[in-house]
Amino acid sequence: MRGIYVHIPFCVKKCAYCDFYSVAGDKTALEDFRGLLVREMDLFAGKFPFDAAVPADTVFFVAPDAEVTTEANPGTVGAEDFRTLRAGGFTRVSIGVQSFHAQTLRTLGRIHGVEEVRAAHRDARRAGFSSIGIDLIFGIPGQEPSDWAADLDISVTFLPAHISAYALAPEPGTPIHRAIGRGELSMPPDDSVAEMYEKTRKVLASAGYRHYEISNFARPGAECRHNIKYWRREGYLGLGPSAHGLFFPQGKAPFGMRTANPPSLSGYRRGIEEGCLPWENVHICNREDAWKESLIAGLRMREGIDLAEIEKKNGPPPEDVRRAVQTLLSSGKLQEKGSRILLPVHLLFVSNEALQALV
Ligand code: SF4
Repeated sequence: MRGIYVHIPFCVKKCAYCDFYSVAGDKTALEDFRGLLVREMDLFAGKFPFDAAVPADTVFFVAPDAEVTTEANPGTVGAEDFRTLRAGGFTRVSIGVQSFHAQTLRTLGRIHGVEEVRAAHRDARRAGFSSIGIDLIFGIPGQEPSDWAADLDISVTFLPAHISAYALAPEPGTPIHRAIGRGELSMPPDDSVAEMYEKTRKVLASAGYRHYEISNFARPGAECRHNIKYWRREGYLGLGPSAHGLFFPQGKAPFGMRTANPPSLSGYRRGIEEGCLPWENVHICNREDAWKESLIAGLRMREGIDLAEIEKKNGPPPEDVRRAVQTLLSSGKLQEKGSRILLPVHLLFVSNEALQALV
């Protein structure tokens, strides 16, 4: 197991674009949740002892140089919290800034303003975090390319180690999606969003950030190791309601096993109180899944993928996958670079359409 993802499902207020599972929670709910989480870990270690082969008094062995990262929302974390996180072993923090523009923050339904962002960043630094990331969103209703350019300019003045910049994709069921449906908000035109993406690449490159994944930029060495695991299709355990996992139990699922916890605290609790892992869905992957997932996730990385490495892990590609890759190469939607294949720069922003043949 290369990593662990823990979904803690409590937020002060639901953001207008969010389709993650979260609810409002107080101290008692948090304490209660902590107990469930510990039981979930014990259940996993009991069921898959090989994967959790560790000294008797611990549940998982954590490598001494592990990246231990958390997301933090401005307006909900103070200096004391950052000190506690640092003392508790966290090595990296990703601050959910999203925008520095007051109206854009309101459209997104964020609870914070620009001042809280500054305070969170300052407090994280003072607490000793050297690896601090800033998360941003662009392509938001009402946002002009010039607003986004200003967001980028301000972001780099914070000198974060890492910047994520995702284009907004309103999910059905979210307030922002409904507001767009009612005609109260409208998405910026596609060419304007594409312009924002190009601007992101340009500004962050000239500020010294390496564009290492479609939506992620880092100072050398500050790439997010946790997310790289997803893009390289390495195993991780998902804990907490709605968490997904991928792991490779010895002798049981050579191509991996995907798990999904129920997206509700009650469903999650039910499973655990019955003494079972709370998995709502389990999918044993086959060779085709392994190949397709490795390609689709791996091609998000600018370094692309090495087909020989995937073959070493999963055996030869199924015929339809091999043909799809050949078609993408001959149509120029993929390019070869040494032993690797990758997406050309001009297709990064439209990677989903470009890689349709692999879905
Ligand atoms: S976007 Fe983040 S902070 Fe906002 S509701 Fe979702 S999980 Fe909570």
